[in-house]
Amino acid sequence: MSIHAGGETPFWSRTPPPRPVKFYPILRPKPNVSIKGHIVNPFIEGVGLHWSPSLERNLACPGEGCKEDHVKRPPRWYGYLAIMDRGLGKIVLAEITYQAAKDNPLLDKGQDSLRGLVLTLKRYGNAKRGRVRAEIEPFHRDLGLPPAIDVRKALVHIFGFEPPAMELPQTEGVNHV
Ligand SMILES: [Zn+2]
Repeated sequence: MSIHAGGETPFWSRTPPPRPVKFYPILRPKPNVSIKGHIVNPFIEGVGLHWSPSLERNLACPGEGCKEDHVKRPPRWYGYLAIMDRGLGKIVLAEITYQAAKDNPLLDKGQDSLRGLVLTLKRYGNAKRGRVRAEIEPFHRDLGLPPAIDVRKALVHIFGFEPPAMELPQTEGVNHV
């Protein structure tokens, strides 16, 4: 019996097909375990997310037509920086909290020449959801960074669907080009 509704021809393949979208893991710092890497993309990409209690994960707010109550639960902004994690040997998405972005002048101003700089993300204290701090420092060596990635495409893949261009008050000053 075919699992494909209405399909007569199963999909046979000796090799697993390539992923339709390349997957980049999202990393968040843990207490006493920082995240560090060279920034691959020129700027941070931010998106408004809602926590889904039933799915126990964040989903992108679609903006108009969103079923969430925006007065009680407005979408929360999260920023994502593509960095080269030398330990893992691959590109990951470092999750920057709203406050961490606000506290860093480069991120707060939507600086668009971050590529090649070094990001360190730390979580203070012992609480799992303790305050996060983002430090960005220059690094003057050519490390042969991989090309920038399509962060939006990666986030759409992770959070479900294409969010509209954000016009939340929280994102003022952040470039979304
Ligand atoms: Zn929403």
